Amino acid sequence: MHCPFCRHGDSRVIDSRTSDDGLSIRRRRQCPECGGRFSTIETASLNVIKRSGAVEPFSRDKVISGVRKACQGRPVTDADLAILAQRVEEAVRQTGLSQIDANEIGLAILGPLRELDEVAYLRFASIYQAFESLEDFEASIAELRADHARARVDDAAATASD
Ligand SMILES: [Zn+2]
Repeated sequence: MHCPFCRHGDSRVIDSRTSDDGLSIRRRRQCPECGGRFSTIETASLNVIKRSGAVEPFSRDKVISGVRKACQGRPVTDADLAILAQRVEEAVRQTGLSQIDANEIGLAILGPLRELDEVAYLRFASIYQAFESLEDFEASIAELRADHARARVDDAAATASD
């Protein structure tokens, strides 16, 4: 990689460390020609195939903007959304694929969003899964209710065993 200061065609790695989330490596480099120091960040390439067939690099910002509308008026902060986008990226990278369908990204969003805010989840799912009728909403809500009931039973069991 070229030195950004003098355009020399080579550089020496003087330090590398993995980011906290384990998704990238940051390398400190030094130019042997002018001594200038700079950093590079290395991540595995991850592309998204859109419904139109176009391919673009995965972007956490796009995940956030896709979810933000569903979170309108809900107690969801920008920090919550940043964490959600990070979880989505981790889930998608774990597949080990370098190209992934936009559809899969939507699927990867559903789980973390449901944990974050159930109303936002229902809104997002209704658009993403193209709910067509009240029955679709009812089925989703019934699923959430069943999970709540299971959680209560688990709580009760935990209390009983205390
Ligand atoms: Zn240089």
